Order: sequence, then C-alpha cells, then structure tokens
Amino acid sequence: MKKIFLWFNDLLSIFYPRGCIGCGTPLQRSEKFLCLNCLLHLPETNYHLSEENPLEKIFWGRVPVEHVYSFLFFRKGNTVQSILHQLKYKGNKEIGAYLGELFGQKLARAGCLADVDVIVPIPLHPKKLRIRGYNQSEWIAMGLSKGLGLPYSNDFLVRATFTETQTRKNRFSRWQNVKDVFQAADVEELAGKHVLVCDDVLTTGATTEAAIRKLLEVPGVRVSVVTLATAK
Ligand SMILES: [Zn+2]
Repeated sequence: MKKIFLWFNDLLSIFYPRGCIGCGTPLQRSEKFLCLNCLLHLPETNYHLSEENPLEKIFWGRVPVEHVYSFLFFRKGNTVQSILHQLKYKGNKEIGAYLGELFGQKLARAGCLADVDVIVPIPLHPKKLRIRGYNQSEWIAMGLSKGLGLPYSNDFLVRATFTETQTRKNRFSRWQNVKDVFQAADVEELAGKHVLVCDDVLTTGATTEAAIRKLLEVPGVRVSVVTLATAK
C-alpha cells in the first residue's frame, strides 16, 4: 500500500511538481520545502556558537535579556527572503515549523536555552490573524518546541490594539506605535519563569522590546529571544 502511495505521489509530482522555495527546482521525495543544495547553503548566523553575538547589543540599554538568537540572515533577494514571503503571505505556515524545529535541534545540540521554561510566540492582532488565518510566529514556536523539547504557550502574552504597517515609520514613532500593544496574561502561572520569546524576524527590536517589557513586569520572569531571521 505504501509503495502504491509513493508511486502515486511521484506520478502526481510529474503533473504538479513541488518546487524548492529557494531555487525553484522540483523537489525529490525526501526533500521538504527546500532542495538539499539550498538547505545546506542556508545563510545561518551561528551566533549561538560564537562568543560575540551582535544581536544581544540590539537590546543593550533597553531591556535586560538573557540570550538572543536568530537562525538565518535575510537579505533582499536571498533564499531567506523567499522563505519569509512564503511564511507570511503565501499560506506556507509549515515552513515555519520545519525551520523552527531544525533550529531548535541545533540549539539543543549546542546546549543553548536548556533552562527555558516556556516558549511564547509574539501574538498577531486578531484582525491580522483573521486575514492571514494563522500566526507565523506560533508555527515557528511549535517547531522550536519540538526541536528543543520544551513546551510553548499562547496564554502568557496577548495583543491589544491594531498597529499600522511599520515599514515607513522611523524608530521613535515605531516605538510609540507598539509600546502598549502587548499585555502579560495568566501572571500567577508566568511568575518566576524563563520565557523564550519567539518571532519571525528581528530588526530594530521595537516590537520584541514592547513584549519583553510587559513580561518583565511579572515577578521573577527572565526573557530570551529566538527569531527565524535577522537582517544582514
Ligand atoms: Zn533549491
């Protein structure tokens, strides 16, 4: 039966070839989302393996964070930009879970974030959630959860107001725009925990900072950050 299914699958892919998100070449049966070549050449930051981690500097003088890691570098036109586009605008939420799990495994192998209690995705506003149908950061968190062997939860951070698109705003007005967007929730359960905040992209850190501030208001909470990508 399995053989027939695989045969049928191959037949289907003749008519509906699944293309690699990175380069467009048809995927082999063993490949998922990315061909082996693109997968092996993903521009990994590897900041979790180095002493010098420039991502931590993003939060210096703003909020105390334990660790900040991003899996990949995105650049205009690179594979990672295609991945993010698929994840956010093309309904391809599974790529978020897939890469989240991959990064989670790498972090676990390096012994990183072993004392985290819970992974908390940055929530989308309900309006955006309705339009997109899913929260891409939650899918990344699900993958991380699997790779790291740690639980994730949507219960500890909620979003209140709708923010306009941030692309044309400068750093200060962006901050004005997001500072009260989040609220910590279920605070008795949250108290004392090391929380791993998870998002798709880390750039100025304004959104992440707003979330971290609210979490840090809860007694005993410590925060680390993981994102799928960061700019280079
Ligand atoms: Zn490829």
